[in-house]
Amino acid sequence: YGDYHQKIDYVFKVVLIGDSAVGKTQLLARFARNEFSLDSKATIGVEFQTKTLIIDNKTIKAQIWDTAGQERYRAVTSAYYRGAVGAMLVYDMTKRQSFDHMVRWLEELRGHADQNIVIMLIGNKCDLGSLRAVPMEDAEEVAQRENLFFMETSALESTNVETCFLTILTEIYRIHA
Ligand code: GDP
Repeated sequence: YGDYHQKIDYVFKVVLIGDSAVGKTQLLARFARNEFSLDSKATIGVEFQTKTLIIDNKTIKAQIWDTAGQERYRAVTSAYYRGAVGAMLVYDMTKRQSFDHMVRWLEELRGHADQNIVIMLIGNKCDLGSLRAVPMEDAEEVAQRENLFFMETSALESTNVETCFLTILTEIYRIHA
């Protein structure tokens, strides 16, 4: 309730997408509440979480949407993408398949979302470096080709989580403000 009295200048909707179990929910929990859980989906069903932050002296409310498991049934609906100005495309850097599926997620995004949507590719679980299955260069190549931002993160160790959300929100602000 800390931001109850705050004047909000902008509300930006950002969606999390990517295969099941890549860490979308934990990235959101880390960013919004600074929490992490090793139990997958201990709590389920929360549609989005908000976090208010200041960029360029403006108060920005980030509304971050989680699929809440819909992706398991390939049932991410167009309502999910509606109004989104940013997307975090998450893969698990220890699971090659989750990276190879990026093509599909990008297609889905380009089919459903706004043309100007800012996209960030995220290789999560970088704390498990010894199990790396996706070289950084592969991700950088895709990011460059598809015009995406790219970062490796760890929701577990908090690595780059704040930075990647700040980066995408700053770019969104630059485009929409
Ligand atoms: P989602 O299905 O994409 O939302 O994935 P979850 O957030 O539920 O995470 C799936 C599993 O991976 C859970 O057991 C998490 O605890 C674990 N996990 C998520 N992020 C990380 C991370 O950065 N490092 C490690 N080692 N495990 C993680």
